[in-house]
Amino acid sequence: MPDRPRATPRKNTPTFGSRTDIGCVREHNEDSLVVSPPLYAVADGMGGHAAGEVASEIAVRTVAEHAPDTADTEALARAVIEANYAVIAAANKKGRAGMGTTLTAAVLEGERLAIAQVGDSRAYLLHNERLQQLTRDHSLMADMIEAGELTEEEARVHPRRSVITRALGSDPDMQPDLYELNVSPGDRLLLCSDGLSGMLEDERMERILVRTRDPQRAAGTLVNEAIAEGGHDNITVVVVDIEGRQRQQEKDAVRSSRLRAAGIALVLAILLAAVSVGAFLFSQQSAYLVEENGMVAVYQGTPGSVLGIELSHLDHVTDVKISDLQPGVAKRLQEGGVHAENLDAANELVAQYKADMAEEKK
Ligand code: MN
Repeated sequence: MPDRPRATPRKNTPTFGSRTDIGCVREHNEDSLVVSPPLYAVADGMGGHAAGEVASEIAVRTVAEHAPDTADTEALARAVIEANYAVIAAANKKGRAGMGTTLTAAVLEGERLAIAQVGDSRAYLLHNERLQQLTRDHSLMADMIEAGELTEEEARVHPRRSVITRALGSDPDMQPDLYELNVSPGDRLLLCSDGLSGMLEDERMERILVRTRDPQRAAGTLVNEAIAEGGHDNITVVVVDIEGRQRQQEKDAVRSSRLRAAGIALVLAILLAAVSVGAFLFSQQSAYLVEENGMVAVYQGTPGSVLGIELSHLDHVTDVKISDLQPGVAKRLQEGGVHAENLDAANELVAQYKADMAEEKK
């Protein structure tokens, strides 16, 4: 049976996967990603001397700090603009002019998807086993293809294929493109840097996404195939299975009922502990007499144990022999002991036994 990503994910199956790889040619991995549901983002940094790594890392961190919990494109745009300011500030401070990054950020709220786009990283949607590019690249190649000057295939090998027309890190007035759409349970969201989309044709990515059920494995396979094709650039992939609002609500309900059960168990455990401690403290006040190796012994506490804790301890063994006592008293001491209100009362009983014995000897 072929793997079908549209099948309802089982309980506890991961709903997303991601992978980033340096590729085969570059000396640094300048891509960054964040997977922090409901936010998913990919950034592809640029600028020499590791500046690209810094830029993409600042971008994903800042967008994660400011991103909304809901599929609100305006709020997501503000988070991306914050990320732009943060990259510009870092570029100025570290004397790294020219440092910049792409950013493709998505917030998935049930069946609502909000995307903010800057640069040539991409968002795709797999729907009914068809992969569709959601975002439009901000790149020279995209402009030339739209103007009919180039085909996709020509763009793939064009010497200026990495020129982008919009990025974070230079223009304070930069605005992201925004997309807002309805998605369906069983759909798959793919975010990637151009190290994937530049190496694999869309049909090939589609095939992998359709036949690889597990999103983490799908992300790994996409990266591996881009590497097998030469891995000319850093490759970053995020795959998210869309479960829809109903499934999310079911999961939330399971989680809250689990939390409630854990809460009840905790309260019961505390009650049980309190009762045990109370019983223990109460039991410690009383005392009892019992036969031990033919002699009368005085114990503080009560016979038995609670939760493995002995409720009594030997206070002392008296010099009264069981055999000297009246048969009735001796029997009670041998079979379970004689209860006393407290230690003083127990000692009084022992004195009583001695007095009785002295009386009998007369
Ligand atoms: Mn790249």
